[in-house]
Amino acid sequence: MVSTSPLPLETPSPAHICPYDQACSYLEQAAKELRLDQNLLVMLSHPRKVITVSIPVKLDSGEVRVLAGHRVQHCDILGPYKGGTRYHPAVTLREVSALAMLMTWKCALLGIPYGGAKGGIAIDPSRYSVGELERITRRYTSELIKDIGPSVDIPAPDMGTSAREMAWMMDTYSVNVGHAVPGIVTGKPISVGGSRGREMATGRGTMIAVREALAERGKSLAGSRIAIQGFGNVGGAAALLLHQAGAKVIAVSTGAGGVYAENGLDVPALKSFAAQNHRSLKGFPNAMPISNAQLLTLPCDVLIPAALENQITEDNANQIQAAIVAEAANGPTTLEADRILEARGITVLPDILANAGGVVVSYLEWVQGLSYVFWDEERVNRELEHLMVQAYQQVSQKSRQREISLRGAAYMLGVGRVAQALSDRGLYP
Ligand code: GLU
Repeated sequence: MVSTSPLPLETPSPAHICPYDQACSYLEQAAKELRLDQNLLVMLSHPRKVITVSIPVKLDSGEVRVLAGHRVQHCDILGPYKGGTRYHPAVTLREVSALAMLMTWKCALLGIPYGGAKGGIAIDPSRYSVGELERITRRYTSELIKDIGPSVDIPAPDMGTSAREMAWMMDTYSVNVGHAVPGIVTGKPISVGGSRGREMATGRGTMIAVREALAERGKSLAGSRIAIQGFGNVGGAAALLLHQAGAKVIAVSTGAGGVYAENGLDVPALKSFAAQNHRSLKGFPNAMPISNAQLLTLPCDVLIPAALENQITEDNANQIQAAIVAEAANGPTTLEADRILEARGITVLPDILANAGGVVVSYLEWVQGLSYVFWDEERVNRELEHLMVQAYQQVSQKSRQREISLRGAAYMLGVGRVAQALSDRGLYP
């Protein structure tokens, strides 16, 4: 264990599992495999900067509420800090810190020149009006203005945020500095310098990772039975792309529950249904209702948790009946559950690989913006395909070489690259 608590500030964690301790455990395992110098491990265990700002916001009712907004910058050894902004009631400083660390390893694993960061505000965005969300987003951006920048820290969407919030962030930053700065955020609308293919990118990356894993086992997407927890930015895109590739998406869910169809759901029809029914899947024809807990334990080829953290725990890991679990969400499997799945011979495609498509296309968006040249969607998808397949193959090879899990291999690669750069750069002063 590292000698001091890596987080300078303590916030209560809603669950008994502390996400930051969990992230540090994976780091420590990788450090052991890499025989990493203890001094490097201590440095990598601590985020560089932990920022909490107050966001006073006038609600439509006239009441003023003060929200806490976080931004944690874990590491900028390989390049600017990079990571999403989450609006969700379960956001805590510890969770944001853990997710910032994951971003560091994810970017290093994919070979993109970024560090890791994450931001978040503990709100349920569905309980705020569009005007209130705009005021919250703008004040949050304004409070962080000295700590972010196109070569300093580049926010992006995450759970509860989208291109709309990125446009507000970009505008707020630009107005404050006096000129347009599209490179301050990624995941922007195309009208202000966003990239084609960004919206589907995380789901596309998951589809590629699943396809490669199946191919290595002599199988293909066509005909594979897939269950997906989550039908938002990530789960929805993955469901559509997998369906288009001929897979049978047998179940999907949202926070309010899901639907199941033995012979596969008509995913495009389900998307339109959800759009017309305030994102509810209830009552979708030719499908049976299913709970989130039931979805996770369905017999299938691939299970894709694409929602919140800590969904596969020691309580249900023994009931998982999928051959492959592809972590489209960040941290959906607890440490204990991960050990159970590994012992049961279930392949886990780890989050830092399986959901890296989003940040890869964020990088492509940033590169296009910096070079003032914009690509068509086919080129974006081609570059994404190349980086995802390359990372998958490196992880798979490392896992075979070292006889460790894909997660162990992915961490070894990600942590190893950052540690190498840290050691080459040296400690100042
Ligand atoms: N929020 C996404 C993630 O967790 C994307 C981050 C980004 O594009 O910077 O990977």
